[in-house]
Amino acid sequence: MNKELTNKIIESLKKIPGISNKQANRILNFFLESNVNFTNDLFENLLKIQSQTKKCKQCLAYSNNEICDICLDKKRASKLFVVFENQDIEKIEALDIEKGKYFIFNENINLKKISQETSTKLDLLLDIIKKFDEVILCLNTDLNGQITMQYLKKAITDLYPNKQVYQPSIGIPFGMTIEAIDPISLRQSILNKKRI
Ligand SMILES: [Zn+2]
Repeated sequence: MNKELTNKIIESLKKIPGISNKQANRILNFFLESNVNFTNDLFENLLKIQSQTKKCKQCLAYSNNEICDICLDKKRASKLFVVFENQDIEKIEALDIEKGKYFIFNENINLKKISQETSTKLDLLLDIIKKFDEVILCLNTDLNGQITMQYLKKAITDLYPNKQVYQPSIGIPFGMTIEAIDPISLRQSILNKKRI
C-alpha cells in the first residue's frame, strides 16, 4: 500500500472536526472496500454542492443565493435567533413557535484573543440587530457557550441599551429523572420555576 498517499489522506480526514486518527483510518478502509462508482458519485456530489452553496450575506447560513429565503421572508416576526450552526436553524424551524430570523455565529468567543474574523462577524451581527425588536441568544449552554452569550449580550446592550436580549432558560429535559440531572441545570430550573 502506498504509505505516502495513505498518510496524506489520513491527515486530510483528520481536519474534519471530531475525526481522530483511528476514525480516519476506518473511513479510508471503508472507501478501499467500496465500489469505485460509489466513491466517484460521493465526491462528484460533494464538489457539486460545494460549488453551488454560498453563505447568505445577512445571516451567514448556507444558501444557493446571496440572500437566503428566510432573510427575504417578510412574514416573520421581528426576532433574531443567534445560533451556533446551520443545523440549529432546522431544529428551531421545526418547533411550533412564532418564526423569526437567524444569525449563525459558529464559534465560541475566546476572551483572550478576539480575531479579526470574529470581530468582522460581530460587526455584521450588531448591524443586523438594529432591524429586530428581540434577540434570542440560542448558543450552546456549556461554559464556552455561556461566556460567548455574556459577551454578545454586553456588546448588543452597549450599542442598543433598549434592545431586549434573551437566552433560553436552562431546564430539566423532558422525561429526565431529578436524580440524573446535573446540579447547574437543576438549580437554574428551580430558579426559573413557573406557577402551575
Ligand atoms: Zn440569510
